[in-house]
Amino acid sequence: MIIQSTKKRNAEILRKEAEQLLGEHRENIRKQAEVMLSKSGRDLARMSSADIEKLLFELQVHQIELEMQNEELKRTHQELSASRDDFARIYNLSPVAYLSLNEQGIIRKANIAAAQLLGGSKEGLVNKKLGKFIHPSDQDKYYFYLQDLVMEKKNQILNAKLEAKNSATIHSVCQGFTLLGCTRSLCMHNNKFTYVELRGAVNKNYKNGMQICLAIQDVTEYKYAQETNACLNEKLEQKILEQTSALMERNLDLTKKVEELKHSKRQLREREIKLNAIFNASIEGIITINSSGIILSTNSAVETIFGYSEKELIGCRFNKLMSPSQSKNQGNDLKSYLQAKAPSVIGQIREVEGMHKDGSMIPLDMTLVEFSIDGANYFTGIVRDVSLRKHQEQQEKKHLEELAHVTRLCLIGEMGSGIAHEVNQPLTAIANYTQACLRFIGADKPDVDQLGEILFKIHQQALKAGQIIHRMKDFVSSRKIYRTDTDINFLVEDAVSLCATDFKQNNISLELDLARNLPNVTIDNVQIEQVLLNLIRNSIDALMGLPQKTQRQIQIQTHMKSFNQIEIKVHDNGSGINEAQKEKILTPFFTTKPTGMGMGLSISRSIIEAHEGVLYFNSEPEKGTTFYFTLPVKRKIK
Ligand code: ADP
Repeated sequence: MIIQSTKKRNAEILRKEAEQLLGEHRENIRKQAEVMLSKSGRDLARMSSADIEKLLFELQVHQIELEMQNEELKRTHQELSASRDDFARIYNLSPVAYLSLNEQGIIRKANIAAAQLLGGSKEGLVNKKLGKFIHPSDQDKYYFYLQDLVMEKKNQILNAKLEAKNSATIHSVCQGFTLLGCTRSLCMHNNKFTYVELRGAVNKNYKNGMQICLAIQDVTEYKYAQETNACLNEKLEQKILEQTSALMERNLDLTKKVEELKHSKRQLREREIKLNAIFNASIEGIITINSSGIILSTNSAVETIFGYSEKELIGCRFNKLMSPSQSKNQGNDLKSYLQAKAPSVIGQIREVEGMHKDGSMIPLDMTLVEFSIDGANYFTGIVRDVSLRKHQEQQEKKHLEELAHVTRLCLIGEMGSGIAHEVNQPLTAIANYTQACLRFIGADKPDVDQLGEILFKIHQQALKAGQIIHRMKDFVSSRKIYRTDTDINFLVEDAVSLCATDFKQNNISLELDLARNLPNVTIDNVQIEQVLLNLIRNSIDALMGLPQKTQRQIQIQTHMKSFNQIEIKVHDNGSGINEAQKEKILTPFFTTKPTGMGMGLSISRSIIEAHEGVLYFNSEPEKGTTFYFTLPVKRKIK
């Protein structure tokens, strides 16, 4: 409404101004015409009627011309008025602040944008000095700017500050800064200015007065944007610097790591070379297989052991290197075999039978190692050809058997007289019984029943003698190891019966303490009996040195030592063994006896160990000696 009424008022003013101008124009023309008429010196009274008529015609033409000019002028005025209206609209609607000032910088006219920028109304600004709105720090600049405009009348630009009025814009911009964390922003300096750009031009108005036209643009946001940009750039630079130094640090780290890696790589390479050298120089065959039992690699020793080159083996099944019976044991599916047997197979040394390329069997010691790479399981078999060891073992066994045989012969030699005595007894008995028989037959009426009884006794005595001789023969004969399930107590009684004469002759009392219901042991009877005889014989020898009056005692005990072990104890109250001898008595050829061989205890120990038992002793000089040996109740069959 206010704008419309203002427009009407302006139009009215313009119309009045135009009419005034037109009136003034007409009056001027009239005056000029009257002057022209008086100068022409024409006298209407002396003019002929033709001249008057001509003059009248000219006047009429002139009048029409004037009227036409008048119409033209009116149209021009109307256009001017419309153009002014347009200009006024644009002037007021423009977002750019426009001001008209006089030479002294006093505001003569302002548009709405200028009023908003400077604060107050358009009318309120009129007659105020623009300098009042300029910030004190820019007053000098503004003064010279105005002077330059007026003097040089050229278009000029000035950047200055106004006291801030548009704080909403500043607040929102400053909030942005705070969010960005800018420290060098205008907001941080607590500035309350509006930054403006003044573009001025000078022209003369129609009243010949000087008019300064100013277009003022609020560049605060631009300034703040510039500041934001600078801040962002600064932050960016800072960030780039930080990142660059972080990158440089990381780069250094990486370089260090690369160096370390190179070093590790070198070390790995060296280790690989060393390992390869060891791998190929090893006398043990090293075979790597996958979980399906396919051979992936072998070393040179494998070729020496099995006769196959690595080329011939890669991609083949591991079974190719095993004897048919071994392969049958582990089956075709090595994977499930290994999975099932893993705890008992992995890392253990097992005796297996391999097969050479030429079909011959090779005794092997094999250890399996399991490892995984990227989730896949692999096994490395380390195999050692133990043919030589086996051969040596067999030789040693044979040697041991021979030695045992010799020892048995010695024992028999020592026991010979006693055994002769034993055999003599049934023979004397047989002789006596035979004489009795002869006497019975010579009688008139021989008592057949009594004769039969005597003959039966003769038969028994003959059997007894035969048994003694048979046992001696058995014991003396060199034989192979042969294990049977045996009640150890029977064996003890048997050995004791062989020494019965010695006990009697040497006045030795024997005490047997044999546990009842002992489980059977799987042993070679002859060998274990030989051990028992050795120990008893040694005890007899030790007791023989004691004075006659002394009570000579031998105790033999059997009992369960643990859940799966039987212990046999042979104790005598002989002279005992001194400390120096203790260390030696189990070694071969150590003897303190003039006719001894020093092999009895070492052979006994070998026999017990071959039965997976232990032989040990306790002895106190003058108090006696106890020998112990154990036997497993359930022998594992390999
Ligand atoms: P040998 O009986 O031929 O000497 P052994 O190997 O059977 O061979 O015994 C070695 C030695 O151990 C004997 O010479 C003896 O000195 C000592 N010895 C063995 N048993 C006993 C024992 N019960 N008491 C004392 N000494 C013993």
